[in-house]
Amino acid sequence: MFNICQHNVYIRESVYQSIKNTLGTYEPEKGGLLGSKNGIISSFYYDEHALTGDNTYIPNIDKVNEILLKWESEEVTFAGIIHSHPYLKKNLSFADIDFAKRIIEINCSDLYTVHFPIVIPKHVEIYWYVVIKEGDTYRVDHKNIKIIHKKIGGKL
Ligand SMILES: [Zn+2]
Repeated sequence: MFNICQHNVYIRESVYQSIKNTLGTYEPEKGGLLGSKNGIISSFYYDEHALTGDNTYIPNIDKVNEILLKWESEEVTFAGIIHSHPYLKKNLSFADIDFAKRIIEINCSDLYTVHFPIVIPKHVEIYWYVVIKEGDTYRVDHKNIKIIHKKIGGKL
């Protein structure tokens, strides 16, 4: 195994590639779900049924719930939401942070941290943010992305 560093987020290579091939390719304000297993971002679902407005990504709730149930059966935990922004808008908007807070609130005690990365399409830059609840306040952290390559015969 490897040591988990708090400043890093660990992502399976296949997940990173599918993010690149969808959110990294299409026009901005698209999004999807992130799932984790054993501390690694192990699943990504591109929300092709999302209702995308002019400047926001709105998940398709029915589809999201369907995926979350499927992940639960695979022991994949919901980790957060990833979405794309127009060029130069590399920070989370107030609406994004608000959305992250609501996710934490509805998940009660299970989820104090929600991943909320931003993808800038074409340039395929990913800014990996995590919204963290600490007591009654919220903090946004920026993480370095570490890609976990598949080992031959390995479980990843
Ligand atoms: Zn946003």
